[in-house]
Amino acid sequence: MSDKVVTRFAPSPTGFLHIGGARTALFNWLYARHTGGKMLLRIEDTDRERSTDAATAAILDGLSWLGLIWDGEPVSQFERAPRHRAVAEELVRLGKAYYCYATPAELEAMRESARAKGLPPRYDGRWRDRNPSEAPVGAKGAIRIKAPADGETVVHDRVQGEVRFPNKDLDDFIVLRSDGNPTYMHAVVVDDHDMGITHIIRGDDHLTNAARQMVIYRAMGWDVPSMSHIPLIHGADGAKLSKRHGALGVEAYRAMGYLPEALLNYLARLGWSHGDDEVMSIADMIAWFDIGDVNKGAARFDFAKLEALNGVHMRRMNDAELLDIFINTLPYLEGGPAIAARLDDARKAQLLAALPGLKERAKTLVELVDGAAFLFAERPLPIDEKAAALLGGEAREILRGAHAALKATSGDWTAAAAEAAIREYALAGGHKLGAVAQPLRAALTGKSTSPGVFDVLAVLGREESLARVADQID
Ligand code: GLU
Repeated sequence: MSDKVVTRFAPSPTGFLHIGGARTALFNWLYARHTGGKMLLRIEDTDRERSTDAATAAILDGLSWLGLIWDGEPVSQFERAPRHRAVAEELVRLGKAYYCYATPAELEAMRESARAKGLPPRYDGRWRDRNPSEAPVGAKGAIRIKAPADGETVVHDRVQGEVRFPNKDLDDFIVLRSDGNPTYMHAVVVDDHDMGITHIIRGDDHLTNAARQMVIYRAMGWDVPSMSHIPLIHGADGAKLSKRHGALGVEAYRAMGYLPEALLNYLARLGWSHGDDEVMSIADMIAWFDIGDVNKGAARFDFAKLEALNGVHMRRMNDAELLDIFINTLPYLEGGPAIAARLDDARKAQLLAALPGLKERAKTLVELVDGAAFLFAERPLPIDEKAAALLGGEAREILRGAHAALKATSGDWTAAAAEAAIREYALAGGHKLGAVAQPLRAALTGKSTSPGVFDVLAVLGREESLARVADQID
């Protein structure tokens, strides 16, 4: 066996890639990238009733959007059922497992009697030591593993520490059902072994499964991978994560206008830290991440923090890169498709020029759509209520003068040239700069807030700027 780290993300395709799953994928991916290893993807589609192709597609799409790209082809757990069966039969041959023919009624009676004694339901091992020749004729038994009866099973977990499970609580659980289908517990172990997984990183809701899975590893004489069970994400109030708290599919975060990098930064920081560093690039996370540094306490999801962090990432990002992401995300953003439909090369150039001003005022791409709307607006512009108020009273007269002053400029139409003309006009007329700039902004954008008005003038260009102002004075 090589020393190379191999992790895996193993989602069940019963719904979207939810935010907790994304964080599990992220930790697997970061650990693999940090160590120069691989992250494989296994779709746990054994539950045929609940697994759908649409969910698988949504999971792949969510991972791709986040940039959490797996190595190799995704593995379908369902397609590996013959191998799971073969290993179960091998366990019987090795004397580590046996066929059990207990009827449903017998099993129910066992559960009843355990319940009456206040014990957890467990199988009593009645077929464990029976001679296979006693099998009822024609019956197809289930295969149960011989779990150790005393002592304890210890999971050496890199996040949870040493976790001890008394073996008396591990009954002889089923690895292969009487219909020939493997149980989930068994399929996971066989797949992890065959895929060469060296490190299992998953939610701590699987911690008790780890003890059972170790029984299978030992019975087969296989190495047990390193285990890390990461705490689940809770809501800001400490309660289990619900929709209201942010328990949504990652596509909902895309539609809310978060950048993949910011969302990953936020998710990484939920339960993991590197000194006082809050803002991290993906390269930083890869360089710094270690699974052993993940906390075992539950992490709390906080939308306000995510939003603030997203704003920081938007401002830090270079404009061309941000523009790329923005354009690719437009189809998913409210108001985005309308912009996408009108985005020609000239408008792209305008957008790029406006981006430094726009991103100062936006914490999400949705806010960026809103801020950029003026670039795409058709004349005469719709004027919102606050902007209309700025155009009342003597504002129109002031605007008329500003229009003339701008029109009189010669040479290149730049923010600096526009600013010089407007300042001179304000000074000459005894107006405060704001008394000119505010109605100007309202006329140019239809809004009361925007990037700096001189930048707006520069981005819109001479002809469009003058026409928009003229629309408000005639
Ligand atoms: N399919 C399981 C889940 O979605 C993960 C199992 C595992 O990681 O071992 O919770």
